[in-house]
Amino acid sequence: MKEVGKRKFKVQQKSSIGSIANARLYSFIGVLGIIVFAVSWRGCIGGVSFSVDETNINPATLAFNSERAFDFLVKQVEFGPRVPGTEESVKTQNFIAQKLQEAGAKVLRQKFSVTYRGKTYQMANVIGIVKGKSERKVLLCAHYDTRPVADQDPNPENRNKPIPGANDGASGVAVLLEIAQVLKTHQPPRTVVFAFFDGEDLGDIEDGGMFFGSKHFARNLTVDGINLKAEMGVLLDMVGDRDFKSNDEWYSRFYALQVVSGLVQAAQKLGYSRYFFQPPTLTILDDHVPLNEIAGIPTANIIDFDYPYWHTLQDTPDKCSPQTLSIVGKTVLQWLMSQQR
Ligand SMILES: [Zn+2]
Repeated sequence: MKEVGKRKFKVQQKSSIGSIANARLYSFIGVLGIIVFAVSWRGCIGGVSFSVDETNINPATLAFNSERAFDFLVKQVEFGPRVPGTEESVKTQNFIAQKLQEAGAKVLRQKFSVTYRGKTYQMANVIGIVKGKSERKVLLCAHYDTRPVADQDPNPENRNKPIPGANDGASGVAVLLEIAQVLKTHQPPRTVVFAFFDGEDLGDIEDGGMFFGSKHFARNLTVDGINLKAEMGVLLDMVGDRDFKSNDEWYSRFYALQVVSGLVQAAQKLGYSRYFFQPPTLTILDDHVPLNEIAGIPTANIIDFDYPYWHTLQDTPDKCSPQTLSIVGKTVLQWLMSQQR
């Protein structure tokens, strides 16, 4: 847990998974953006498998275009920092909406305003719906906003500047937009609700400055008369690191073990087991917590928290890779396409 110490997180040693009943309490306390607790439970769902049976790989999975996904990441960074309420944020919303439309999705914008530390922000979640063969819904989500302050930057002069957010912001969006493009020609068994959240990374957890978009979505699942309550979901956050390995994550296991298991199976089919839900087991406060606890949508978080450029001005596209976006995108697609109607 070296990274945790270095990043000045409040770390709480938990003696056993038996205290899991306190999950709700823990979700309302904390210090910084995403909070990590060390847990002693050293489970590893993933295992290692290198044998790949290509006959089990869905054609949709193979259609994921890693270069196009990476272009989506670069494009967002080129807009500038996507701080809530800014012109750059609106440009990004429009870009997401346009790509969803091109993919044939129905697009909704869920607008809301938030007052935080005396300032009011106009925020919006962008939502896309891709019809599946059945009405049953699956949620795929990511935050598109970026942190207004690089508070982890090694240079103190940079710490009040906004981050570029190539990995922390753009990567999850890029993977989801590419998945949407694939689904245009490969209809999924279930209807897919894409949700792009605003205001994940605005302020601090201790005074309620995080997860504004996902909280608003979780409390308002009906948008323009359409009920968006999905049976399960996957959150992507920080899924672009060139050196990618997503963490085994405690909330995901507790609330959405079925989703975690499904993703692990999909990863095994692709020979990607070593990249998913690997030790150390972290407890991460992120947009999946409101989805699990407020909306009641079992949602797993794919997140690689071992990223040295987290909340710094060095979170730029060169730290990310098309290959990583492809590993994540293909795994999610394989999972999505193998579901029963
Ligand atoms: Zn962040």
